[in-house]
Amino acid sequence: MKTNKKYKVLLFCVLMVLFTFGYTFKTSALVSLPGRICIDIPQSGQTVNSQGITIAGWALNSSGVKEVDIFVDGIYVAKTATNILRPDVNKAFPGYPNGDKSGYSYTIGFDVLQLGNRNVTVRAVGNDGTVTDQSVKVNYSGKSIKTTVDEPVQDSTLNGDVIVRGWAISSSGIKVVNILVDDKKIGQAIIGQPRPDVNAVFPQYTGSEKSGFSYTIKNTSIVAGNRKITVEAVSNDGLIDRKNVSVISKNTGFKYSIDTPTGDARISKSDVQLTGWALQNAGVKQINVLIDGKQIGQTTTNIIRPDVDAAFPGYSNGAVSGFSYNIDSNYLNEGNVNLTLLVTDSIGNTDVISKVLNVKESRICIDTPKNGTSYDKRNVTIAGWSLHNAGVKEVKVIIDNKTYNAKIGQTRTDVNNVYPGYIDGAKSGFTFTIDSNLLQNGRKDIIVKSVSKDGTVIQASVPILVTNTVISKGQLFIDDPINNLTSNDSDVTVRGWAIHTYGIDKIEVLVNDRVVATTTTSVARPDVAAAFKEYSELVNIDNSGYSLKLSKNLISEGSNDIVVRAVAYNGAIVSASKKITMIKPVARLAIDSPTNNSNVLGQNILVGGWALNSSGIQKVEVYLNGALLGNATLGISRPDVNAVYPGYPAGNSSGYQMTIPSTSLARGSNIIEVKAYGNDWDCVVNTVRVYNGFSKTIVLDPGHNYGGDYGAAYTLNGIYYSETQLNMDFSVKLKAILEAKGYKVILTREASERSTLSLYDSLKARVNAANSINADLFISLHHNASIASSASGVDVFYSSWRPNIDTSGLVDIGDDTFDTTPSLPAKNSKVIAQKIVDAMAATGYLNRGITDSNLYVTRNTNMTSVLVELGFISNPAEAAKCANPLEQNKKAVAIANAVDAFLKTN
Ligand SMILES: [Zn+2]
Repeated sequence: MKTNKKYKVLLFCVLMVLFTFGYTFKTSALVSLPGRICIDIPQSGQTVNSQGITIAGWALNSSGVKEVDIFVDGIYVAKTATNILRPDVNKAFPGYPNGDKSGYSYTIGFDVLQLGNRNVTVRAVGNDGTVTDQSVKVNYSGKSIKTTVDEPVQDSTLNGDVIVRGWAISSSGIKVVNILVDDKKIGQAIIGQPRPDVNAVFPQYTGSEKSGFSYTIKNTSIVAGNRKITVEAVSNDGLIDRKNVSVISKNTGFKYSIDTPTGDARISKSDVQLTGWALQNAGVKQINVLIDGKQIGQTTTNIIRPDVDAAFPGYSNGAVSGFSYNIDSNYLNEGNVNLTLLVTDSIGNTDVISKVLNVKESRICIDTPKNGTSYDKRNVTIAGWSLHNAGVKEVKVIIDNKTYNAKIGQTRTDVNNVYPGYIDGAKSGFTFTIDSNLLQNGRKDIIVKSVSKDGTVIQASVPILVTNTVISKGQLFIDDPINNLTSNDSDVTVRGWAIHTYGIDKIEVLVNDRVVATTTTSVARPDVAAAFKEYSELVNIDNSGYSLKLSKNLISEGSNDIVVRAVAYNGAIVSASKKITMIKPVARLAIDSPTNNSNVLGQNILVGGWALNSSGIQKVEVYLNGALLGNATLGISRPDVNAVYPGYPAGNSSGYQMTIPSTSLARGSNIIEVKAYGNDWDCVVNTVRVYNGFSKTIVLDPGHNYGGDYGAAYTLNGIYYSETQLNMDFSVKLKAILEAKGYKVILTREASERSTLSLYDSLKARVNAANSINADLFISLHHNASIASSASGVDVFYSSWRPNIDTSGLVDIGDDTFDTTPSLPAKNSKVIAQKIVDAMAATGYLNRGITDSNLYVTRNTNMTSVLVELGFISNPAEAAKCANPLEQNKKAVAIANAVDAFLKTN
């Protein structure tokens, strides 16, 4: 129909052209050709119902057509040109420039058209400026859609959520307005919002009064960078109109989720699998994991998560937004633990994810059966309780490799009271019962596994013995060693077999009653299996052999008892024994430092030396005055020792050492004891004495001997008093007290000696003992005697005359010689003599004073020297007092204090 109509219109136009041309040709043959224009379509008055009005026709101008301008209702709309082939026109009106290409066609867009009667004018403009117009009236009722975006404006910079606002109208009404970011649809705008302004301009459009739309693009959907926002309006009749707005987004949107641990995050104290996802505009670079503020590691990132990408489109890392991390249980202390994830994107921005984890230890306890309970044809009931922070899911019991489900949820308020705060803690009990006839004989572990609702598994086990039908009996044999084996410093192989109807729990090897090794029966012994068929159903008789090598270090030198015993699962023991002899090089121990009897006042002591043992040295203990200080450092290089005693293990590093701080030392004499233990427990002991005190030496002289220098002796009231003995008793006490004060004390005779030297030789030896070592003080100790039994008291003698060191100023008075210009030792002797006698008297004796006398020992010693008379043993009361150990001690302390006070300052 349309084609026919168009054809008729075209024909009409050509006839008109022919008529006009003919007329002009005839009347103005010399005038230039007139301008011509024709609108072929649409016909005047035609109704056009499409997405625009197409205007087509032809135009001619004698100077050539420069352009064709289109006007709607007198308003310029567009221009076009004549360039469509129209040979028909050229044939009808020859002579025009480009007459064969005089056609034009232009579609006026619906967006510039308003519905209703429109006056469309076409104007041809010639190159010489002449114009030719033609108009046509059209009723425009076509499909149309028109969209305007008010916000955001083009090239604006945005931060945060973006509001998209505008209006859309269509001749058929707007169905939907879609919002797209970077060509990806993110939602539909709310439409139908009042727009009276639009209605005022386009009243003829259905619903233009409510043509407004709006939409808020969440910041997470419009990531940082140059973004394109598209508003896509769709009309009810299917027209689509898109408007693009370019914007710059400054968003750093961040979205995340922790998937596990889930929910309220009650977890067991066990390794925890952390999983989740994080979305960042610039992509996630790394996620640091912190527990209570302390970094513990980094998650694995870039885990594929298409689900996240679909739910939150637009993120660059959406498809690989997953992360995971295994949190070691060591970081999870019981209580609330703060989990922090520090998420860093690829441009350095960070975001934080926080979650509080509630951590509780998973617990399990088997109350019954008790360890090692034996069952003979009766029910075995396994009962106990278990706790998980997330709640108990199930409890399984495993016996004889079979798994059973226990009943859970038994009331246990007692457990809940002790461990409060667990889900269902008051119903934490479990129980399971099985007939022991269903179980295999022998020892076995019952295993109980408790599974948490979060997947944590904990277990406990208890050994029981099932003895439904067994008689307890067994045998054990030692193949090696042979009895009375002699080992020359070598390891010893212990080998044999053992069988028991209850099964053998373990084989123990004892050396001299000490268990030194444990093994099991695991060596194939078909010979034993063949010989003892009656055991075959009850034990693993095929592997009844045992074998182990006993280190020579575990065996002492000499004769040793080797016992092998098999312990059956019911506790029964079968054993056998052998004797072996071990030959070893002798153990050695030396203390190189400190030197015996050395003075170490105020110094730390390096205890050092070396120790050798054929089994190797296990430890070297150092004792001070009987108390263990500790183990010395071993392994110190001593090639010298190895050269002298080759063949010992680690001889080249046989040195040991330990430092004793000076503050640990007692004042005076200290005994350092060193004990070297071999790996065979053989022990060698050595000791040294050091003096921690003044570097002064006192020679104590217990007077008299048992022959030519025999002292006084009395029997009073039936008691025998010997001066020789009492002098020694007292001297030993005084020595100990002085040593405790730090002095080196030497006795001129020892308690065990029974010297019978002549008087002269005896005295000479005593003086020599002091002079030969340049002693600092000499004290000769005596007890007095008198024919008058009432005589009593103490006195002290010294000698101003010292013929060995000073011969000037001598005067003789009677039989005695005195020095009027005494030497320093002589002067000091007088001073200390007075101090000693006063000190003794203060303990309850008559003070008989001091006397300058030519006694041999005070005269011939070259140092400060005195002779002390400690009391009269001819006086019954004083003899008893002098023999009383408590009284002796009192007097010795008094003398020692006087000596100490003197020697400290002299
Ligand atoms: Zn005497």
